[in-house]
Order: sequence, then C-alpha cells, then structure tokens
Amino acid sequence: MSKYGGYQGKILKIDLSTRNISDYEITDSERELYLGGKILAAKIIYDNIKRKIDAFDPENLLVITTGPLNGLLAPCSSRFNISGISPLTGLLTSSNCGGTFGMKLKAAGYDALIVTGKSKERIYIEINDDKVEFKNADSLWGKECMATQEELQNMQANPKLKTGKIVIGPAGENLVRYACILSDERAAGRGGLGAVMGAKNLKAITVQGTHKIEVKEKEKYQALIKKWIEYLRKHPLTGNQLPRLGTAGLIAPMQAKNILSTKNFSSGRFDKFESVSGEVLAEKYLVKNSGCISCPIHCTRVVSVNGKNVKGPELETLGLLGPNILNDNLEAILRWNYLLDELGMDTISFAGTLSFAMELNEKGMWDNGLEFGKIDKIDELIHDVAYRNGEVAYYIGEGSRIVSKKFGGSEFAGNVKGMELAAYEPRAAVGQGLGYAVSNRGGCHLNGGYNVILEGLGLSANQYTPKGKASFTMMFQDLMEAVSAGGSCLFTTYAIFPPSLIEKPNSKLTRFINKAIPHLGSAVALANRFPGILSLNLPTLFPHPLAISYATGMKLNFGKLKRIGERGYNLERIINLTLGMTCEDDSLPKRLTDERQQPDNKRSKVPLKKLKKTYYRVRGWDKLGRPTKSLIRRLRLPKDSAAQIYGAKAN
Ligand code: SF4
Repeated sequence: MSKYGGYQGKILKIDLSTRNISDYEITDSERELYLGGKILAAKIIYDNIKRKIDAFDPENLLVITTGPLNGLLAPCSSRFNISGISPLTGLLTSSNCGGTFGMKLKAAGYDALIVTGKSKERIYIEINDDKVEFKNADSLWGKECMATQEELQNMQANPKLKTGKIVIGPAGENLVRYACILSDERAAGRGGLGAVMGAKNLKAITVQGTHKIEVKEKEKYQALIKKWIEYLRKHPLTGNQLPRLGTAGLIAPMQAKNILSTKNFSSGRFDKFESVSGEVLAEKYLVKNSGCISCPIHCTRVVSVNGKNVKGPELETLGLLGPNILNDNLEAILRWNYLLDELGMDTISFAGTLSFAMELNEKGMWDNGLEFGKIDKIDELIHDVAYRNGEVAYYIGEGSRIVSKKFGGSEFAGNVKGMELAAYEPRAAVGQGLGYAVSNRGGCHLNGGYNVILEGLGLSANQYTPKGKASFTMMFQDLMEAVSAGGSCLFTTYAIFPPSLIEKPNSKLTRFINKAIPHLGSAVALANRFPGILSLNLPTLFPHPLAISYATGMKLNFGKLKRIGERGYNLERIINLTLGMTCEDDSLPKRLTDERQQPDNKRSKVPLKKLKKTYYRVRGWDKLGRPTKSLIRRLRLPKDSAAQIYGAKAN
C-alpha cells in the first residue's frame, strides 16, 4: 500500500512460464524517487535485469506502468507506458500509449503490471480486479488488431462494459522487430515491444476493475485542473494548431525551415509538400478530430479509408511515407497508416527502413525492386512484412540497422542505435540532431528532447548553431521524462511557451528571445546542475508538479520534478550501458554529420562531436558518456549502479 494519493499501492507480477501471480513490492521512498510511468518501469527493469539479454529471451520483462495522474481526469492523462528490452535496439525501450488500458489497470487496483517468462501455449490474460486468468488465444492468433479487440470485447461477461485492452497483430506474432502494441486505436508504437509480446506467446491482455483512486487535496486539485483545461483550450498550440490540423500542421513549417526529411534524409525540402500537408488533410479527408480520454486538445485526425472512419496519420508518418519516399499521394498514406496499425507495426520504423531500402536499390547495393516515388506495390509490401513473406519483406521487417549490416550503406541508414529517425531532418535543426544521437531509446525526436520546437517549430532560434543546444536538450529531456512519468501527454508541455510568443512571431519580444536562446546555454546549464534554484511553481504554464502534489500529497515543484526526470534519464542510460551500449552508439548516420544539406551553407550539417562533448559535460557524464559516481550519488540512483557501469571496485 502507499500513503500517497494518486497511487493504488499495488503492482501485479505475472510469470508466464510458471503461471505464478504475485505482488511486486515497491516502497513510498521509491515512488518519491521514480514517480511512475517510464521512470518507475526503468527502476523495475534495472532491479531485475543486470546483464545483457536478448529481447526475445523469456527473462525480458514487459513492464506496463501508469503515473499518479492517470485516471484522475487531469488533461491528457490517460497515457500509460510500456517498457522492456527492444528487439530493434537491444537496449531499453519505452513507449507511451493513449488507450484505455492504463486507466482500467488502475481501476483494477494496480499501478503497474509486470509480465515475464514465456507461455507454452498461445494465450491472452484476463484481469478482473484481483482475479487473473490465462485464456487460450488460438482463435485470436493471426487476427488483426481491431478484430482482436472487438472479439475480446464480445467475449467479456458484460460486453457492453468497455474493457481495457492491449493487443498485438500479425507483425507482433511474427516477430517483426518494430511490431507495436495497440490499445483501442492508439499505439505504443516504438521499439518493437509487440514482438516481445509475440515471443512470449501473449496475444493480448484485458483488464477491468472497480477500485477508486484517492486524491489527497481534492478541492485544490479540481480547481487547478479546471484552470489548466481552460488554459490549454486558449493556447495557440494546444487550443488551435493541434485541434485544427493535428501534428500534420507541422509539414508546412518544416518545409519552410528545411526540416522536412526528403528522399531518405538527403534533403529538407519536398517540392510537392502541400499535397501531404495538414491543411490538405483537413480540407479533403478530415471527418472530425478526436482525442484520448480526458483530453481537451483532441489532436487526433479521424479520416475515411475505404468508407471506414479510422485514425489518421501523425506528422512523422506523413513525412516519412510522403516526402521521404518522394510520394505525394496522401490517400495512399492514410491507407498505409491504417494497414500498419491493423497489422501492428510502427509506422516510423517501417517507413524509415523502406526509404533506406529504396536508396540501396537506387545505388545498386540491394536489388529489391523498391523505387522512390513508385508506390503501387507498397500495400502488398506492408502485408508481406507483417507476415514475413519473401526475402525483401523479411529484411524490411528487421529494421534499417540489420539491413545495413547485410547490404551496406550504414552512412545513410536513418537510424540511431537501431531505431529509425522521425521525420525531422536534423541538419537544419542541429539541436534535434544531438537529441536523436543521445536519446536513450534510439532515433526518437521526443526522447531526444524535441529541441526542434526552439529551432523553427514553435520559436525560431538559430537552427544551425550548436550554441546552447546541449543545455536545452538536457532540460527538455528531463522535463518530458518527468511529465510522462506523471501520466500526462507530452503535448501538454507545449503550453509552457507563453501564448504571445507563438501568436506574435515577429514581435520585438519574440525576436529578442529567439536571438537570446543560443546565449542562454550557461544559465540553463546552471539550472540543470542546481534544480533547487527552480523551486517554484508555474501553475499556468507548467501545472504538472502542482497537480501531482495535490493528487499525491508529495511536495513537488518545477525543480523537484525536473530532478525526478534527470534521475530517470540517467537510470535509463545506466541500463543501456549495462546492456552493452557505449558512447560510440551516440551517433548519427554520416550523411547527417559529414555532408552539407545545402551546398552553399557550410553550417547545414550536425556538428555532433562538439555538441556531444558539451552535452556530456552538462549532463555530468564522463568522456565515455557514463554518469559519474558523484552524479549517481547526487541523484540518489541505486547504490550498485556505479558498479554496474564501472565494475565491482566502484563502490
Ligand atoms: S493531445 Fe493528442 S495524443 Fe495527447 S492526449 Fe490529447 S489526443 Fe492524445
């Protein structure tokens, strides 16, 4: 149990090999240090996996965690987390999802669910409060994600009562290395944990419950939430751009700033970008916008595909299945996005591997029949990848790193640590380039700190200078880590920028701030080093710590929440170092560091060596990218973690 509100105080552990069901203990001190979500998951993985293991090893864990705000009707707080060792990177991965599963898990009385082992038979798990049952999944095996969920719903004792579900599709069953997990129409997309479920012979988990969640300071909490929702609805990003155009609204600004990855990251501009823009999507295909539960932003596009209303693509999918393969057919992207979801595959990794395969073919390095701009066979290819039919599809299902090992071309294989990059071309947003390189889960824009929001997609600081970028990367990484751990959607953090800065991009103040950002590196580094100077609350711009405080009874503020994020980021790093990662893995494909994006702009490449050196210093890591022993102590990370990365004598 926990003395804190916002938690149920219980974690359920299920061993599929032995079918043993047990409680997994954590203390309130650990809740204070690791909060929830991906950080708590990292702690559980750290405590249980102390050596390099294969992602498909039965010992790999699937750790599904909620945060203290989940289920408490804070804005955008239905998001839950799934972590484990990734088949794509071999390192820790975490993936965030907006389906109902997390809230239902909490309603069943659990803050987290740990699944280990491997079932002999194909099964799904049914959880109803304290009752856990293993059920045969033969009739579900081979089914696509939506059909599986419909069938599971119909099999419930009361089919009218919506059950929380996570499921995999054929891609997960067939161990495609970037298979995802779906909950409703939402995906825990990145890192291939769908294949981990497949390797465990686990098709799905359903959950239903009747427990309530305590809020410690209910009146204060409700008043804050009301104001928070009002603010988000008025903010130009969360109240206008995201509801109106979704993330797809970024296509045009990315084109304007040379950030729109085109032809396998060989350029940042696509002549026909308008055909795949958020504006055209809204005009021609949008049925309505929708959102995850308890979300006032509603960034999701609902579009019609073959007469059926389905979830539309995000910016990353549009960019990578559009400009990055020289495709301007938006209708095809909507269809592929739907197909990839149904078959259970990460759209980003599929698309990134596809563009790489096209370039290999163009260069005569792999005769695979795939050509830039030629899209007539992509539907068939998506099916073949999910079912692993034929050699070309098989390799595409392995991801771009394994393809590059087989056919060459690593210098233009768009991945970091094995995970494919998102659609932001980093040579025109060098801070984002650093973020990609050092991100714990691989080529991820969000885990990399999303510096691009300062470099053209929110504010307009100099895109090409490395100045200040390392400090901001750390600041944003830590904050996003903590916000996610609390249970909120990361889009709520966009509202940290005062509305006038976004609404008036040419005002004197905005232009001054844009100019000042690169020179603020030292000040931000100081705040990173001593978050105590940030012991304040910003109830309007960044209400997350206050909301968590009122819900739980913990005493958090901006600085303390950031410190939790820093702890989480470092713990993930320590796990990755334990799993064999080195500083050499904090890299980018050579194309992005050595070749200019614009021939007449010598700064249009990522000065990674310089950025990395500053970033390691700002983070308090040594030259090999390892958290120093003093940092480990300062962050109150597990006492044995220094020994994990420095050897037994470290303690
Ligand atoms: S902003 Fe979008 S992704 Fe975030 S909770 Fe709302 S609908 Fe879901």
